[in-house]
Amino acid sequence: MPKTIKKVGVLTSGGDSPGMNAAIRSVVRTCAYHNIECIGIYRGYQGMIEGDFKEMGPRSVNNIVNKGGTVLKSARSLEFRTPEGRIKAHENLVKAGIDALVVIGGDGSFTGALLFNSEFNFPVMGIPGTIDNDIFGTSHTLGYDTALNTVVDVIDKIRDTASSHNRLFFVEVMGRDAGHIALNAGIGAGAEEILIPEEDLGLDRLLESLQKSKASGKSSSIVVIAEGDKIGKNVFELKDYVEANLPEYDVRVSVLGHMQRGGSPSCFDRVLASRLGVKAVESLIEGKSNYMVGLQNDKISLTPLEQAIKGKTEIDRELLRVSEIMST
Ligand code: ATP
Repeated sequence: MPKTIKKVGVLTSGGDSPGMNAAIRSVVRTCAYHNIECIGIYRGYQGMIEGDFKEMGPRSVNNIVNKGGTVLKSARSLEFRTPEGRIKAHENLVKAGIDALVVIGGDGSFTGALLFNSEFNFPVMGIPGTIDNDIFGTSHTLGYDTALNTVVDVIDKIRDTASSHNRLFFVEVMGRDAGHIALNAGIGAGAEEILIPEEDLGLDRLLESLQKSKASGKSSSIVVIAEGDKIGKNVFELKDYVEANLPEYDVRVSVLGHMQRGGSPSCFDRVLASRLGVKAVESLIEGKSNYMVGLQNDKISLTPLEQAIKGKTEIDRELLRVSEIMST
C-alpha cells in the first residue's frame, strides 16, 4: 500500500514560462478536490531551504489561469546544489508536514528533484515548464506554444516593415540547444531561411539561398536564427558576413530576447497545464514518484524523471523539408 499523501508542496524553478500559473492552479485545485492540503513554496528550491511556504486553497488561485510568469516566483538556487542545502530543505518540508512535491521547471529542476528523492526517499513529480520544448517525454512543454505565438506575432510585424523597405531581416529567437521555436515559428511566419543548433546549413548555402530568393523576385526576406545556431556565428556576425558578400542587401537585426517568455498563456498551454497538474497530483496519490507528466500522442503520460533528463529531443526532419519547400 502506498503511503497516504496528506499534504503536497508545489514550486516553480528555473526560467519561468507562460502556463506555470495555470499549472499551479491545477495542482492546488486537484489537491482540494481530493481533500489534500496544498502548500505553495516560493522561489523554487531556495524557498524550500528558507521555509518560505504558504498554504494554498482553491480560492487562492483565482484569476491566475490567464497570467504569464509565476505567482510563486522562480529562482536558481546554488545552495540546493549542496548536501547541506538539501538537508535544510528536507527539514523544512518535514516540519511543515509536506509529504510529496510537485516541481514545475526544466531539466535542471528535475535533476534536483531526483537527487532529493534519492537522498530522502521523498515522493516527487515533475511538470515540464520551459519555452524551449527541449525535454524528452513530452511533445510540448508548458510555455512553448505561447512562445511560438508570440514569435510569429512579432515576425508578422517585422515583415510589414521589411517589405516596405526591401530589407533583409535577421530575427534571433531563443533556443541555445534546441531549434524547436526557430523551426516552427519560422515556418509559421514564412521565413526564408531558418538556422538552428541541430543542423549546419553552412554560410555558403545561406548566401546561395538569399541570392536565389532575390533572383526569383523576392524584394524582402526574413531569416529566423536560433541563439545557438550551428554555424556558430552570432546574429551580428552573420549580418556582417552577409553584407560583406552580398552588398546589395541592407540587413537589419532583431533580437527578440525575454519578450518570448512573457505574456498571457495560449489556450493550448492553459489546457495542457490543467491536464498535467491533475495527473501529477493523482499520480502522487497513487503512490507514484520520480516521474514527469507530459503529453504524448495527445494523451497525458508519465516518463521516468531520469529519462526525461537524459533523453534527447529530436528535431522533426520533415519540418526541415517543409521549410525548404516553402522558401521556393
Ligand atoms: P530552464 O530550462 O529554464 O533553464 P531548469 O529547471 O533547467 O530550467 P536550472 O537553473 O538548470 O533550470 O535548474 C533550476 C534549479 O534546480 C537550480 O537553480 C538548482 O537549484 C536545481 N538544480 C539543478 N541542477 C541540480 C543538481 N545537479 N543538483 C541539485 N540541484 C540542482
